[in-house]
Amino acid sequence: MSVTCCSETVNRSAAAESLVVKAARLAETLEQGVQAFIEASDENLGDIELQIEQQSRELLRAAAEKAAQKKADLVPPICPVCQKPLSRVSQGHQRSFECKFGTITIERVRGYCKRCRKWRFAADTVLGLEESAGYSPRVQEMAALLASKMPVGEASAVLEHLTGVKLPRATLDREARRQGQRAQKLRRQQDEQACQNPPKAVQSELVLEPYQMIIQLDAWNIRERDQWGQTRELRRRAQEPERWHWVYTGTCFRLDQRGKTAGGRPVISERGFVATREGLEALREQLYAEALRRGLGQAAGALVIGDGAVWIWRLADDRFKDARQRLDFYHAVQHLAAVGRALFAEDQTKLKAWLKPLVRQLKNQSAVKVVEQLEDILVQLPKGASAPAVEKELNYFREHQQRMDYRAGQRRGEPIGSGAVESSCRQAQCRFKRPGQYWTPQGDEALLCLETFWRNARWHLLFPHNRQSDVSKN
Ligand SMILES: [Zn+2]
Repeated sequence: MSVTCCSETVNRSAAAESLVVKAARLAETLEQGVQAFIEASDENLGDIELQIEQQSRELLRAAAEKAAQKKADLVPPICPVCQKPLSRVSQGHQRSFECKFGTITIERVRGYCKRCRKWRFAADTVLGLEESAGYSPRVQEMAALLASKMPVGEASAVLEHLTGVKLPRATLDREARRQGQRAQKLRRQQDEQACQNPPKAVQSELVLEPYQMIIQLDAWNIRERDQWGQTRELRRRAQEPERWHWVYTGTCFRLDQRGKTAGGRPVISERGFVATREGLEALREQLYAEALRRGLGQAAGALVIGDGAVWIWRLADDRFKDARQRLDFYHAVQHLAAVGRALFAEDQTKLKAWLKPLVRQLKNQSAVKVVEQLEDILVQLPKGASAPAVEKELNYFREHQQRMDYRAGQRRGEPIGSGAVESSCRQAQCRFKRPGQYWTPQGDEALLCLETFWRNARWHLLFPHNRQSDVSKN
């Protein structure tokens, strides 16, 4: 290198050199580690994995810091919100951020936006640091993903153990909620887009096979406490502060994307998932948008499956009015069993002998025949204790008779139960219904929203650094 080169070149090559030097030093340390590992009789691969990880961290951190600084230096002083040039621009504003490899510190330019009337750091936006309390996009993502999968106390410990990233419980919670609120905003935009510009109908000659859209609905409840600090006062008035709220859940998929594993278990290759505690209207609009994204517009028909809950059929009539409706087969069987219990009380042998042919008939023949038999039973019953119970169930079967086309459904290869949505509910409950857990209405909706982005394979829309790899699963 020439000693007469300008100072800028010297600075740049010194900065470039530092990574090379650090890498060389690391390589030497790693070689020594390998030697020590070979000689240590009580160490297995896990020991050296951990050691390599810890020793490499500083090099990775330095590389991230260098990259962030170089990128920040290139950002012009323009307001990232309104694109107007910034005024009163000054250099050298330091800030530290937690990244995956440790703390990085960068210097940024600050300027005032006269239009927004705000001080702006344009570099923060370019680096993806503006919507965070000092965390890099990768760490923001980690907080969001872990908090939507496990309680934050555990998430904090697991994160530090597996990655070395230190995020105290309260900070992780705050960061995850912030990301969840961002997800809710993005969901609203996405849903509006899906409804305004639904995917164009594919030309008929291009449609290979007409398909059915299957929509399943269910609900479960979550425990919330939104009257903090008022417990005593409420109890004095003989009220309890905790409240249960419904989380409405829906799933939708194309029938031709439902298949079976080698072991015969049904699998769905692509399916949309919606969960919200913001009420039925929110579910209705979110599910409709999701169904449009999954191809409702091009479907030959649609089928809504759910248990007997009234809201399900109202929602279906309202938003999916051309769809056929089907009552979950398992729920229908439970109502038949209720008749059996009314007739035979605790006599399990008689109950089973009575129930089995009826269940088979309901599944493989028709609901009409089942209704006829229940009518006969009711006529012959003395006006005793079990008659009202049988009559109640008979009315249930009459009401849902049109939704019990199980034989036709099976012939068309359609599901006769709402197992897909029920399994989604069970999975969500593993996270949201733990002993002693209370949620705030804002907190649970934010995390539920993160979960839907993950499950719908749209995680990369929230965290674009994942756009190359499809990390979410259905
Ligand atoms: Zn502005």
